[in-house]
Formats: sequence, C-alpha cells, structure tokens
Amino acid sequence: MIIAFSLYRANLGVGMLESATELGYDEVDGKLTLDRFGSESTKIAREIADSYHRYHIDTDEIEDADPLPHRFLVEVGKVGLAKLLATETIHYFRPWEPNFDVIFARPCTYGVFSGPVGGFAPKPKLCVGCMRCAVQHPDFVKVLPNPDLLELGDSYTTHGHITAIDEEARKGMVPVRGQGYRGRFGGPGFDGMLTDMSEIVRPSRDGIHGRELIGTSVDIGSKPMHLTFDSEGRISGPSPEMFTIQVPFVFDLPPGDLGTEELARVVASTGAAIDTIACLDAGLVLREGLDSPYVAPVLDVTMGARASQFPNARLVELSLTPGRSWGWDCSGFEAACDATDATVAVRIPFEEGWQGLMSDAIDSGAKVIHLLADLHGEGSDGTFVTELFKEAHMLLIEQGCRDEVTLIGAGGIVGADHVPKAIISGLDVVALDLPVLFALQGRSHGSLRDRALVSGTLPKKLDEDWAQQRLTNLCGSWRDQLLEILGAMGVREVRRLRGEFGRSMLVSHLEDEAFEEIAGYVGGGC
Ligand code: SF4
Repeated sequence: MIIAFSLYRANLGVGMLESATELGYDEVDGKLTLDRFGSESTKIAREIADSYHRYHIDTDEIEDADPLPHRFLVEVGKVGLAKLLATETIHYFRPWEPNFDVIFARPCTYGVFSGPVGGFAPKPKLCVGCMRCAVQHPDFVKVLPNPDLLELGDSYTTHGHITAIDEEARKGMVPVRGQGYRGRFGGPGFDGMLTDMSEIVRPSRDGIHGRELIGTSVDIGSKPMHLTFDSEGRISGPSPEMFTIQVPFVFDLPPGDLGTEELARVVASTGAAIDTIACLDAGLVLREGLDSPYVAPVLDVTMGARASQFPNARLVELSLTPGRSWGWDCSGFEAACDATDATVAVRIPFEEGWQGLMSDAIDSGAKVIHLLADLHGEGSDGTFVTELFKEAHMLLIEQGCRDEVTLIGAGGIVGADHVPKAIISGLDVVALDLPVLFALQGRSHGSLRDRALVSGTLPKKLDEDWAQQRLTNLCGSWRDQLLEILGAMGVREVRRLRGEFGRSMLVSHLEDEAFEEIAGYVGGGC
C-alpha cells in the first residue's frame, strides 16, 4: 500500500517533480486485505509507472559576471625568453613553413605564451599550474600563486572552497581534476571525517547515471514513531504531518547584510525551480510579495501571531533572540501554530543551554528544529558541528522521538562533501548560507564567522535569471556529488544516511588505532 501525506504538492502544479510518493494514494479507504492488494497493486504500479518523472535539476554552463582572480602569476624573464625563441626559430623555422604558431607557443601547451607577442605578454588566466615551463626553463620562468586569489575567504572558508563553488555554479557539473586529489587526508572540521566508500554494491554507477533511483528527497515535519490501526484496518493513531523537498538542503536566512531584495528574489525563485525552501526575513517576504510554498518566512518568536500573513507558506520559522537568558517561552510558538497551518520551526543557536531549549521546544510541540552554529561550524564553546549535530540527534533518540522531529542544521557548510557529512552526523536537512554568496560571484568584506557581521556585495546590475541559473547549477553539482557518495556507499536514498555514523571514519580515531602503542604519540587529530 502506498501512503502519501504530501500536504501541498497537489496544489503546486509542479508536475516535473512528482514522484511515486506523491500520486494521491492516500485516498485509499478501508481495510487493506491481501486480496485487495493483489487486485489493485498491478493497476497502481501501472499508474505510477505511467506518471513517473525522474527528478532532475536543469543545469547549464553560464558565463562569469565578475570572474575570480586567476590562480597563478606567470613571470617570464625577457632575455631568457628571447634566447629560447631564437633557438626555437633556428630549429623550427622553414621559409616555406615558418611555424610561428609553434615557435611563439613555447614552452606552454596551454596557450599562456600564445599571445600576439608570445611569452613577452603571457596570459596567466590560461595557466593550470602544470609547472612544465618552470621545470623546463627555471632560469627565466616562474609560476607563483596569485596573492589576490589567496586573499579571498578566511581560515575556514578558504579560497579553495570559493573557487570550487564558483566553478560548480558556472558549469553545474562535478569538478574533476586530472591530477588526482592533491589535498591532505584529514584535517580540521569536516576534513577530519572520511566516508566509507568500500561497499561497491547496487545502487552504485547505475544510480549515478540515472538507470536506477537514488533518492535525494527528504521530509520536513513529523512522522509518528509507529503507525497504529483500528480493527477495520484504518490508521487510528497520529499520522505523518510533513512535506517533501527534493534535495536535502535549503537556503538559509542570508546572514549579515546579504538579505537584499534582489538576493531574496533569486533564492525564492531558485527554491521553487528545484523544489526546496528558502528561509527569508518575514518583512522582506511581505514587501517583495514572495509568499509561496517555497519560502519560509523567519519571524522573531515574539511575533508568532504574524504567521497568518503567509497563507501559502509550508514552513514558518521562529527565531530566538541570541543570548536570551529567560529560557523557552512557548507563547509565541503557540500563537504561530494557532495562526497558520504551516509547519512551525524553531531556530536555536548552539549557545549554552541549547539542549534544554530544544527539549522545551519539542515538549511544546515543535516538529522542526533549525540549529545554528557560527559560519566556521562551531558552537559558542568551540565544539564543531559534527559533534553538535550528533548530540542533537542522540538527544532525540534518547527521548524516543527521533522521527517525530526534523533537524535542520546550518554553519560551516561550504563544500559539497559537507552535506553528506552533516547528514551522517545526524541532520535531516542542511541549510546553506555563504555558498549562495559565492555562487553568485559576490565578494565578502566582513566577517566570515559571525553571522551578524557578514558583509558582502553581489555583482553590479545583477541579472536575476543569470543568478538563478548559477544557484541552480550549484545545487545540481552538489546533488550530483551527493549521488556519487551515496552510490559509492551503496545507500539507496539520503534519508537512510541520517545518523549513519558507521559510514564515517574519524581521522583522529584511525590515528589512535594505528599509533597509540608507539612511544611519543600524543593523540590523534590534525
Ligand atoms: S605552469 Fe604549465 S600551464 Fe602554466 S604557463 Fe607554465 S606550462 Fe603553461
């Protein structure tokens, strides 16, 4: 029997995104007997097959509006180059076939030395850093990292993350490097977690290439820990109250001064295009007329009654004042629940006492908790989010209500691999903040750690169609990378990855295992 509880899909008119769980078989009434199942299952299967559309994100390579600084500076000694060209000319020049294109291209096969005057005016933006020229002609060629690029980002969100996001948003593809992985195995933050790729089982390549399904949809809301039925076979206990989005990430409330009207319009339209949620300031949603099932207005908890102003929202979020000392006050939450049919989420920063606040909110009936670390992925005590998400997940398990609550988490998610790692740590849904800025080729001028102090600018005269395509490309690339990791693990859907700690290995534990018997070893870690 197929039971679907999608509250809103029927009215959304997004046929492209329909899946087997959203075909309206919740209307099947009465007791389900084996005979009835046998007679109806073939018909139901046929209808599902006929109306099935595989979820797909339409990516399309798109031009840069404000390109990042190129990666390398190429410095060429003019005397040395002139000597080389003279030698090459003697070697390659023939009156009937001058070969100037060959002579002036030397020594780079990537075209860096192929300008009108050859290497006397190199084109460093073409340099891929292969170092052939520097190895072959160390006397007059130097290839150096570009300091303008190195200045981007900070110690956590590095220029490497920013350039990866930029490339993903431009091409909409999984970035591939021909020279293999050049980074460290292990490191701080998410780099301290490795994922288990050892089970090469179905669905693996078939799922990645679309011949089988690897599900990336997730549910936001509450599912009962078990179903109960009356003697007639009807559900008698609580039923799921949730809706489904097609990717396990949402756009978080833009931090600092990023919450402009144009960015709000872009994330709202992208959220609708890929079927996810964009969290936006409630005032901005009203001013811009952005109320829709794909936008979650964020209100201060004391203004909960204003949730009625968003009749189309599927999700409304209530924020708690940071640093509050008076604990949980459920009156605003109850007012919001009374004012709207939407699911009401509570945003809780990882500050001292967050565990108590989360438990109190759940006791008051909150079904969605949106947890917030700083943009370096740390709580107020410096604990990294992998530990914090795990703690929140385990708290819910201890309270026997894990499936009744959806955990959304934000902070420190700046790479495609961070999404599955956060889900392995216990999240249902990951919220993206800074990647949105960098996907749109914005530049940061403020803090990249403290949400309130973030300051950034988007390219001048932002074309919103261009911006939507960039953000869609980023989501397509990150989803494809999620499929790669799920396929490599043999996991058929991302829901099953939640809290699967056994699918991860911590570098510190591996080092402990390998080296703790050795005298002088001071402990695992980076
Ligand atoms: S490092 Fe490689 S790509 Fe860059 S200029 Fe030298 S030869 Fe060309």
